[in-house]
Amino acid sequence: MANKKIQDNNLPQVASVPVVAVLGHVDHGKTSLLDAIRKTSVAAREHGGITQGIGASSVEIVVEGVEKRITFIDTPGHEAFTHMRGRGTQAADIGLLVVSSVDGVMPQTKESIEILKKAQIPFIVVLTKSDVPEKNEEKVKGQLVKEGVMLENYGGDVPYISVSAKANTNIKELLELISLIFDMKQKPVLGDKLRGIVIESRLDEKSGPRATVVIKSGILSVRQEIECDGIRARIRTIISDKGVHLDRATVGEAVEVMGFEKVPSVGGIVVPAGSVAEIVEEKSTTPVISAVPVFRSGQAAVPMPEDFLLEKEVPTLSLVLCADNQGSLEAIIRSLPQEINVALQKTGDITTADILLAKSMNAIVLGFNTKLRPEIVKFAAQEKVLTKNYKIIYELISEVKDVLEGKQLALVEEIYGRAKILASFPFEKTKVLGIKVLEGRVARGDKVRLIRKEEIIGESTINSVRMSKNVVSKIGEGQEGGVILSPFLDFTIGDMLICHG
Ligand code: GDP
Repeated sequence: MANKKIQDNNLPQVASVPVVAVLGHVDHGKTSLLDAIRKTSVAAREHGGITQGIGASSVEIVVEGVEKRITFIDTPGHEAFTHMRGRGTQAADIGLLVVSSVDGVMPQTKESIEILKKAQIPFIVVLTKSDVPEKNEEKVKGQLVKEGVMLENYGGDVPYISVSAKANTNIKELLELISLIFDMKQKPVLGDKLRGIVIESRLDEKSGPRATVVIKSGILSVRQEIECDGIRARIRTIISDKGVHLDRATVGEAVEVMGFEKVPSVGGIVVPAGSVAEIVEEKSTTPVISAVPVFRSGQAAVPMPEDFLLEKEVPTLSLVLCADNQGSLEAIIRSLPQEINVALQKTGDITTADILLAKSMNAIVLGFNTKLRPEIVKFAAQEKVLTKNYKIIYELISEVKDVLEGKQLALVEEIYGRAKILASFPFEKTKVLGIKVLEGRVARGDKVRLIRKEEIIGESTINSVRMSKNVVSKIGEGQEGGVILSPFLDFTIGDMLICHG
């Protein structure tokens, strides 16, 4: 059936759209580069550049009069994402090794080099921030060669290009280089049977399981019966990175798919329903594409507290883990020290039920990229359950390690005061927040949390407090004054400030 359909539609049977993964050290400019690339896209100009955050995006460019497409996987940029990045490169045909021409080779650059070597895919070194006067490209190239990246003109054949996302320099040239390398690359003969790799997955409260799949061969169509690591799906909806509903997707495309009966794991291989045996066979001979389950405890299932009480070995620390998506969960779990018992892992925000479960097991609750609503923070404080949310996996992991090492974390946070931001005044190079203290007090040196519409925007410290024109040490309940935060947080009028211990 599938064969017939492909022929009828006269669609290409081998990869014609390169899939590209971006790797590199945090802050070296991966996100900015992807943003600059998206802006260059013909489609971005046509559709206003709205991308849907499905973990991948495709851009259209014109090379010598021919329109070409490139799919980029938005792989996360931190150490703990090694495995996701690994999978990113497996799903990818070409890698971009992003290295800041100011900072040079850093730990995650080295790690990325290792991943690229293992994945055995061609890659391009992208020297970013070329607009910065302090750059030192020669030094950075020397460092790369020292790491075994044999650059062109330095005795090897790894291409490099210097770009600036800020000044939009060489972005188009980079895309042309990708296209050229892909055209030169020996393409694997992939056949026409559907094969896709899940690069992101999550459970949506309204629409159920959603997965972003990169198509490596064949065609994925609406109403098709597929499966991924034993999880079946009758494809209900296929959505492109621009939010467009599609009837089908083909090689080199990354699309969001709905219809799975459960959330499939990141790295899982999507095949037509009933062809699992064949894939298991392929897996044993193709170690590059791995669909090995990565969970230490039950996948996505909610374990009951009593299951853990029955465990023979008492772990040093139990954890309730909530993350924004399945890929993040997996990356965190892989990075956790062995002694950690993950009592519950789930996608979605931290709830009171999570806190109660943690309390019953003397566990802690950690969130990654979740919303930690103020009432949940309050509830956790009441129940004396350490509950925190992180935006960087590395920080989450190091905090867990700190707890393991016996360092005392502030188990219960004390709230000193709440204030509403009523005004904003420019002051020297920063801004003063004009506030009214609604409860408690706001004092110099307090740690503060900035809240907007129940969402935590950031953490900072009160650096300076004024009432009228006088410098004071604190502002009491019901009073108005001005405070300066350090570091500065991008506040807006109406935001709340919570001072805590
Ligand atoms: P990522 O962590 O690798 O995704 O890095 P980001 O894209 O978030 O960039 C880190 C910082 O470098 C941000 O402050 C960017 O504004 C800055 N940056 C990124 N690309 C450029 C560039 O081409 N020129 C300059 N001057 N700054 C850049």
